[in-house]
Amino acid sequence: MHATMPVCRRCGRCCRQGGPSLCRDDLPLVASGPLGPHRLLTLRRGECVTDNVAGGVAPLAAELVKVRPVPGGRACVFFRAPDACAVHADRPRQCRLLYCAAPEAVRATYARDRLTRRDILAPDDPLAALCAQHEAETDLTRLAGLCRRTLAGDGAAREEVARLVRLDAAYRELLPARAGLPPEALPFYLGRPLAQALPACRAALAPAALYKPRSSA
Ligand code: SF4
Repeated sequence: MHATMPVCRRCGRCCRQGGPSLCRDDLPLVASGPLGPHRLLTLRRGECVTDNVAGGVAPLAAELVKVRPVPGGRACVFFRAPDACAVHADRPRQCRLLYCAAPEAVRATYARDRLTRRDILAPDDPLAALCAQHEAETDLTRLAGLCRRTLAGDGAAREEVARLVRLDAAYRELLPARAGLPPEALPFYLGRPLAQALPACRAALAPAALYKPRSSA
């Protein structure tokens, strides 16, 4: 090891802030290693997310796949308190590069070669076609526009938001029932439920959104 290279103290600070996003180097871990679909979460294009490396919250310009958090929490699903990683020998590239006191190495590379569902699923996998169909039908960028219109008093937009939320819920019911998928794998195949991926949905469907804002004239 280079004498000046910083050494991770394995304090678990970064692991508590969430799992890493995956890149092409991590594909073998997904194909035959510990990172099966039930351990992953897809963040979809248009989803508002916190960027721990760049800082701030912004809609994603492109899909990414990451190691999912613990249920109801933020920490990486592989984090074992107080400071252990359950897959330390097979941890993803972002974890290998990150040294929290000197995050430059991660900052320079973390947005490169990101994996998407298309990279992970075989092209002839029927689930790949189903994911693509769900993605097109519930496009988050379009949905965000519909939510804005709803909040401005557009009743037709509200009905469309409600229809898309029902459609998304139907996919989540059908996939385990018809394709035998474990429910824990749905966040990888379909991303998060629409109202979680886009909190504006909740505001758009709240009863107050039924009423048009008062005209200022
Ligand atoms: S995979 Fe391991 S090192 Fe990476 S964030 Fe999760 S617990 Fe931490």
